Amino acid sequence: MRTLIFFLLFALGSGNALAGSASDIALLRQCYPEAIRAVEAGNMLVLSDGTRLPYDDGLVKDTEQALESPDIEDMLAQPYPLQAVTVEPAQGFHPGRRRVTAFFKAVYGHDQAEVKANLVSVPFLNTTVRFNAKNGAAAALEAVGRDLSALVAAHPEYAKRLLPIAGTFAWRPIARTERLSMHSFGLAIDCNAKVNTYWQWNTTDDPLTLRKAFPDAVVKIFERHGFIWGGKWAEFDLMHFEYRPEIIQKALAAK
Ligand SMILES: [Zn+2]
Repeated sequence: MRTLIFFLLFALGSGNALAGSASDIALLRQCYPEAIRAVEAGNMLVLSDGTRLPYDDGLVKDTEQALESPDIEDMLAQPYPLQAVTVEPAQGFHPGRRRVTAFFKAVYGHDQAEVKANLVSVPFLNTTVRFNAKNGAAAALEAVGRDLSALVAAHPEYAKRLLPIAGTFAWRPIARTERLSMHSFGLAIDCNAKVNTYWQWNTTDDPLTLRKAFPDAVVKIFERHGFIWGGKWAEFDLMHFEYRPEIIQKALAAK
């Protein structure tokens, strides 16, 4: 009997763990239809390029380690808020900022040359930018641009928040780290860098006011098309949007 109870508890416990990994993996397959070739034993993802990534690497990490070397579970763990920012995010809260680089390399390109070959020109407001065509990213940005054009026509005062565009593709690490920025994959766009600051440049002691000053209607349009905003991270980046359909879809599923 004791053995049976133990078995039942074990089955229940691992069942719950599997449910989390199963729904996260299903979500990745939905948002990146060509990325995952196979899943072994419910935990090991075999990607289209042969890379093997554990969903859960079994390691216990602090905030900084989860940022430096996340597994897929860590990448999807923090819930992205779809509502406008009204309170300062807790320290270490930065949904979408944990990224498993090997996953994005498999989808969008392994090095600068491979990514460059995947870039296309996208009309965006009054200009044209380069963005990655893989996995629908460039098409999503083009849809953002169309919706923003209509918004700016109705609210011309928003134009200075967005323009001039400060950049999209640039193969580079994140400042003061060795981790590749999402700009390296042609998946991120920076709006006007003169009016939108980021945490390392910030000189005020009231970042919440800065976050709130950014038009929520602009953020909503990006989110509708699968982009997350750096203004919702504790270490904020107000000019930065990046294409992360899995983060947005998980937020929508949790509603
Ligand atoms: Zn950026």
